[in-house]
This record gives sequence, C-alpha cells and structure tokens, in this order.
Amino acid sequence: MPASQPIKATRGVRDIPPSDWAGPWRIVIGQATESAENYGNQAIETPVIEPAELVERGVGESTDIVTKEMFRFQDRGERWLVLRPEFTAGVVRAYFETGLNQGPQPARLYSVGPSFRAERPQAGRYRQFYQFNVEAIGDPSPALDAELIEMAWNWLGGLGLGEVSLQVNSVGDAKCRPAYRQALLDYFRPLKAQLSHDSQTRLEVNPLRVLDSKEDQRFVEAAPRITDHLCEDCKAAFDEVRRLLDQAQIPHTVNPRIVRGLDYYTRTAFEIHHQLIGGAQNALCGGGRYDGLAEELGWPATPGVGFAAGLDRIVSALSSEGIEVIAPPAAEVIVVPDGYQPEAAAVVGRFCRQALPTWVDYSDRSLRAKMRTAGKLGARWAAIFNADEAARQVVQLRDLNAGEQREMPWDDLPAALVQAP
Ligand code: AMP
Repeated sequence: MPASQPIKATRGVRDIPPSDWAGPWRIVIGQATESAENYGNQAIETPVIEPAELVERGVGESTDIVTKEMFRFQDRGERWLVLRPEFTAGVVRAYFETGLNQGPQPARLYSVGPSFRAERPQAGRYRQFYQFNVEAIGDPSPALDAELIEMAWNWLGGLGLGEVSLQVNSVGDAKCRPAYRQALLDYFRPLKAQLSHDSQTRLEVNPLRVLDSKEDQRFVEAAPRITDHLCEDCKAAFDEVRRLLDQAQIPHTVNPRIVRGLDYYTRTAFEIHHQLIGGAQNALCGGGRYDGLAEELGWPATPGVGFAAGLDRIVSALSSEGIEVIAPPAAEVIVVPDGYQPEAAAVVGRFCRQALPTWVDYSDRSLRAKMRTAGKLGARWAAIFNADEAARQVVQLRDLNAGEQREMPWDDLPAALVQAP
C-alpha cells in the first residue's frame, strides 16, 4: 500500500545534493586528504557501529556527558552498540587491533566520514555530520601537537577561509590537574548558591565542567586558570607548542576556558573558530592530546594527539565568505540520437567514453528536448546522429561552447575528443 504521505528524511539529518557534493564538499575533502597525506598520514576506515563501552566508560558525570548525545541501541544478542559520536576511540582501538602499535611510531592516521550525535538539531548542529579526523598515536612529543595544528590551519587557509581564529590551552595532566580541581572547588564552593542548577550538580563531580557554563560567565571569568596551575612538564610542553606555532607564523590566543570534561585528555587542547557562522556553533575544528585514553580502553598506556574538523560547518563557512565552488558537469559529452536508436547510441557512447565522461540519451523525446538537456547538463560536446548517419557510422560532433559542428566517423571520436583544445 502506498504511504499516505511522501516519506521524508528523519529529523536532524540532511541530503547533500550532487551540486554541493561535487562542488564545495569535493574540494574540502580533496584538500583534507591531500594535506593529511602531505604530512605522512595514511587513511584508516573504522566501523560506524562500535560497542557502547568503547565510548562510555567511567561513572557519574563523565558517563552522563557521553551517553546523552548518543545513538545507542541493542542488537539481537542484546549487546549495546552505538553509532560513533566521534572517531578517536575507534581509531585508538583499531591502532591496537590492526597491529599499528607494532609499526613505525607515531602511527599517523586520517579518516573522513560521518559521526552521529542524538542532539537537538539546530543551525550548524546535525545528528549525522561529517568529520575529517586526524590522529598521531604513539609519541608524546609536543611538536606533534603543533604539527597537527599547523596542518589544520593551513588546510583551512588553503580553502580560502580568512575569518578563522585559533585558540589553544593546556588542560594539564594527572600530576597537576588534581590541584587545579581543588583550586576550582575552593573558588566555586562559596558561590554555589548563586550558580545555575546545572553547575551546582556538576560542581562536586567535575568542577572543570562549570567552566563551560554560559549562564555562570560572571563567576567563570574570575575563576582560577589552569594555565596558572600547570606542573613543570606540562608548562614546558605548552611553551614548546606555542613556540612552534610562532615559528610557523600561526597566530593564536591562549584561552584557559577550553577544557575537556573527561580525564583522559591531557595537555594541549585547541579549537579553530569561524567568525561569521552560527553563534555558539562556530567551532570548525577541535583537538588535543589524550595520553590517558588507550589505557582507559584496556590497552597499554600510549600517548596520542589528534583533531576532528566538522566538514558541514566548513562548507557553510566557505559560503559565508562568498567562496563559491561550482560543481563540474556530470559529463563532458552527451550522445544525442534523433529518434529512438538504443544500439547505435550505446556504441557511440562507448567510443566517446574512451576519451571523456559521457552521458547517453536513450529516450525517444524530440531532438530539441534532448539538446535542451545537453545544455542543462553543461556538457561541452554533443554527438548527434540520425538513422542515416548511424548506418554510415558517423556523428555530427558539436562543440556546444563554440557552436560549431563537423561530421566524424565513430572510430575517430576518442582521438578527436582527447585532442580538442
Ligand atoms: P567535537 O568532537 O565536539 O570537538 O567536534 C569536532 C568538530 O565537529 C566541531 O568543531 C564541529 O565542527 C563538528 N561538530 C561537532 N558536532 C557537530 C554537529 N552536531 N553537527 C555538525 N558539526 C558538528
């Protein structure tokens, strides 16, 4: 039975039509891949479905942050699965499971694909969105952090984006964070009654998350800063990252409010924002170090650093800066038989396709209608023929840009199309 209403896409997801996918998306993804490979990264594919425990670990607040945003379901064996909300945990798992931990270190890995979050959809926030993700696993050097930031920065700049800004921070490590946590508790506790409801519940479980609160900005402004509480090693690492960014002439500001809710994050944290797109949803890219993650997943302790960039937002940032990328035509040649001549059309199509992408019109519409389609497609060439020409194995090859045409034997089509200026 037909559906009573036409079936539409589900909430918070969208289609990317060919004009967008073959236009800005192709460029953004193409240049992402190129920059990643330029730095010696190799592509890795990991599953979209993962065991829930890969992304939900620990107890209390941390679990809460992670689970409320997730597409989570049970398979028939009642195992809990999730649609990946981000790449990092899956890539770290794969690093061990595919033996990359035995190869040259660090493993430099990149991926492009969808991530999923069950959030309330709004501008710039989707339930299925695309990420370019890069990880360097197996080396604690701060120089890697700086290299990754440089890669992200140059990739965005290479796309022509001008309205971007880089913010960096250090979130410390297991050595210095406990004292900072205590300093935050000492500062916020006397203010507790004045904090928002959310912050009051977060305070005792994870005071760092109070820093994220939009409502409590006036108290957050004066709160102790992590950068004043770093241990010697973390401070030296942070200085090194900043020196290398200066050397690469990458402008950056330190934002001590960039914090991460989960304990496995260590040291460098950074974000790249875009000035012109959607309010709170203007982060194009975020990343940092997660030296505690591998161990938390039950694998040997292994340092790692990476970033994830949101491609949906980068495409929208391009258009907000007036950078237009026109998709190339679906085909360069259109084969236009006058009347219905499927065999001859298929043969002519095969000849043309030896040289250029070719679209064959098999319909029995009028020649005029077919030529209009050729115009709309944006093809440069039309190979036009009637029954008599098909019998003689020739076409009229028309250059739709120049408006000129000449008769051409089928055999000569590949060479003529390749050689055309
Ligand atoms: P995060 O893992 O939250 O730091 O995300 C990394 C990047 O992915 C962000 O900087 C955004 O550009 C993008 N991103 C995250 N969540 C969404 C979403 N729901 N919709 C679109 N892009 C997103």
